Amino acid sequence: MTQPASPASQPISRVGIGYDSHRFEPPGPLILGGVPIPSDVHLHGHSDGDAAAHAITDAVLGAAAAGDIGEMFSDRDPANTGKDSIEMLRSAVARIAAMGWRVQQIDLVIVAERPRIASHRELMRARLASALDVDTQAVSVKGKTNEGMGWIGRGEGIACMAVATIVSSNS
Ligand code: MG
Repeated sequence: MTQPASPASQPISRVGIGYDSHRFEPPGPLILGGVPIPSDVHLHGHSDGDAAAHAITDAVLGAAAAGDIGEMFSDRDPANTGKDSIEMLRSAVARIAAMGWRVQQIDLVIVAERPRIASHRELMRARLASALDVDTQAVSVKGKTNEGMGWIGRGEGIACMAVATIVSSNS
């Protein structure tokens, strides 16, 4: 991969976007935003299926033009089977730190009919903030239903979208 120019020659702050979706499969529990949630289904995936952590990881990497989660953690590598997605996020933050960037803030949207996010929000913010090396106040977690429409409305899975702002480490 071509290394992007150093932050010194770039604007002081940059923005990245991330998206991920995973389907529900039995059994539970479900892991979302680094938080185990009691459930009769989990999010199917090569790793632990944490679509929220994956969307944020891609937003962080995207802001630094530093690749993507699929390139960092191949689903063909047995070492990534069942991997803790919070550790994957930590690795992405370390990658952009090595390039001279740090995360400033995150805004996350979780779109699902279930589980309801509100009662898990504060723990998700804390877990994600720890991995991102930011204050909890810098992590926004919002839950939405899809008003019963489409595959999300039928309860087949979850979609997550995230935006990350990064700044050069010396700012
Ligand atoms: Mg994923």
